[in-house]
Amino acid sequence: MASGNSFYITTPIFYVNDAPHIGHAYTEVAADVLARWHRQAGDDTWSLTGTDEHGEKILRTATANGTTPKEWADKLVTEAWKPLLATINIKNDDFIRTTDERHETNVQLFLQRLFDAGFVYSGEYEALYCVGCEEFKPQSEIVDGTGPFEGQKVCAIHSKPLELLQEKNYFFRMSDFTDRLLALYEERPEFIQPESARNEVIQFVKQGLSDLSISRSSFDWGVKVPWDDSHVVYVWFDALLNYVTAVGYGQDEEEFARRWPATHIVGKDILRFHAVIWPAMLLAAGLEVPKQVFGHGWLLVGGEKMSKSKLTGIAPTEITDTFGSDAFRYYFMRAIAFGQDGSFSWEDLSARYQSELANGFGNLASRVIAMVTRYFDGVVPAEAERTDAELVIHAEVSAASDLADASMEKLAVHDAIAAIWRIVDELNGYITDQEPWALSKDEANRERLGTVLYTALEGLRALAVLLSPVLPEATARLWTALGAVGALGALEDQPLREAGTWGQLPAGTQVSALEALFPRIEATVN
Ligand SMILES: [Zn+2]
Repeated sequence: MASGNSFYITTPIFYVNDAPHIGHAYTEVAADVLARWHRQAGDDTWSLTGTDEHGEKILRTATANGTTPKEWADKLVTEAWKPLLATINIKNDDFIRTTDERHETNVQLFLQRLFDAGFVYSGEYEALYCVGCEEFKPQSEIVDGTGPFEGQKVCAIHSKPLELLQEKNYFFRMSDFTDRLLALYEERPEFIQPESARNEVIQFVKQGLSDLSISRSSFDWGVKVPWDDSHVVYVWFDALLNYVTAVGYGQDEEEFARRWPATHIVGKDILRFHAVIWPAMLLAAGLEVPKQVFGHGWLLVGGEKMSKSKLTGIAPTEITDTFGSDAFRYYFMRAIAFGQDGSFSWEDLSARYQSELANGFGNLASRVIAMVTRYFDGVVPAEAERTDAELVIHAEVSAASDLADASMEKLAVHDAIAAIWRIVDELNGYITDQEPWALSKDEANRERLGTVLYTALEGLRALAVLLSPVLPEATARLWTALGAVGALGALEDQPLREAGTWGQLPAGTQVSALEALFPRIEATVN
């Protein structure tokens, strides 16, 4: 059912040393909702995630734990990162590890091509390096240490002393690309989004780019530089290439042409790597730059950013064990404008779960199915004469689904969900107004009762389709209860862009009992 529109979306690859927290899960869910949306809309969709496994920091941790870096990475991938994807119900198409042979071989190929084209040279390098960031720090991020680090230079992000590294390095001529990058940002304003992120990158590049050190020789946990195996490739240069090595770069040109370029979803703290270094690398290699680099905001917990360095992290299972994965997905996508910083709180999560999911959507579904069971023996009634009240619902369902699709296209996931939720609110208001329980008391109103319940069922049918990328479990259960599997086929096969077309659920379909979609949560959390 692919429409031919390619949609390739990536998350950043997880640094295996980190412990999964809700910040990682947030990025994953956003990319997954967008991927599921496009997949169900019939676009030729591919979603990629994975792990970043090279670099000095991994080597040091593995050594400290008495193991090899590869064994360390294997353990974390198996015990931490793949389980995270299961916890929040991610349906990724691929999972790449930077230790995969398909990756390492083609990192070497890419680098060799840049070397052959004259974009790489060797030189002496002396600079302050932060192992926490795995980056030579620019002046703007070097500050004077305090407390135990008084008198030393420390990383502005990690507040830990920087190491003065003095090495023979290979350099990428990134400075050659200053003007071409500025022209790119100018010609394609959507290339970096949101606008605040775009402006920040433009300001940075306008100061002029330096060449980039892309090899290290003081340790060996990395991809070997193809013409000099005493060096390994700089971990960021290696990691960024996952986005192309995962889709056939260097080994399957047909697949590569089908997928690339990608939409990259990244945290704004790593925006510069994706919006400056990465397109410069691609331009040097004569490859297309990404379709878009979208920098989402930070999650704030108690006013503080959750990050790699300040692991005030909340494990996603703390939320999903109580509320379930659907509620996790819904909450973060709905409560935070995608692209901006947002605050997480247990109170807000709990309140939205109760009012929006349980009372708003879940209760609507339960009531409608129960009334069809009670008044029509569970058989979907026919729609008779429509009144203005029904026409308002038809128009709302159609408008909301168009608006949701347009919002998803702009990666405004929160707007898309808000648009879909108008259907929930309209249907709840419609049922209150039409009072089917009152209609049921007089046999003379039988046709009218049928029309009212049919309208509610059709609304639920549209909601199941539109919300399936966000709430895959609840909507699958609703779909089954509606009897829609037999009548219309699997939920994931319903063309999403036609969800707003009225009258798809056939009269005569048998509905079945529906357990509460979002059960009451007894224990108070936290
Ligand atoms: Zn740092």
